[in-house]
Amino acid sequence: MLNNVFTPHIILMATFQVNLVSRLPLIIRGIPVSFLQASSHPTLGYCNLTHLNRRDAVILRRLHVGHTRLTHQYLLRREEPPQCHSCNCALTVVHILLECQQCNSVRQKYFPVTAVKDLFDTVSSRDILSFLRDIRLYSCI
Ligand SMILES: [Zn+2]
Repeated sequence: MLNNVFTPHIILMATFQVNLVSRLPLIIRGIPVSFLQASSHPTLGYCNLTHLNRRDAVILRRLHVGHTRLTHQYLLRREEPPQCHSCNCALTVVHILLECQQCNSVRQKYFPVTAVKDLFDTVSSRDILSFLRDIRLYSCI
């Protein structure tokens, strides 16, 4: 009974946010709600990044949720979504990490996975960050 009375504030806020998002109109300040929901990876879980420096931890968190400066700054600038010039498709975190043909040889050096969940579950943070440094996108994330 006490658990119901003393529910932590953070759980209440999370519940409130989920309910709020489900009741909002389809567009929030120009950002489709479906886009916001589709861009995160709710099944990835939480990984401990305390062994990393702050910059590396921030980059990995951004990759985890699928939002980076490179892939989402267009929203603040009110521009068109970025495109991969090599593949002529949307520039997303998944595209950068797993799909882009231009990065294939570098990617194979660090990880052979083909799914986002496998990437974050089986590949070390160090290898993901090294991959980003090798393809020269580390500072853009
Ligand atoms: Zn590409």
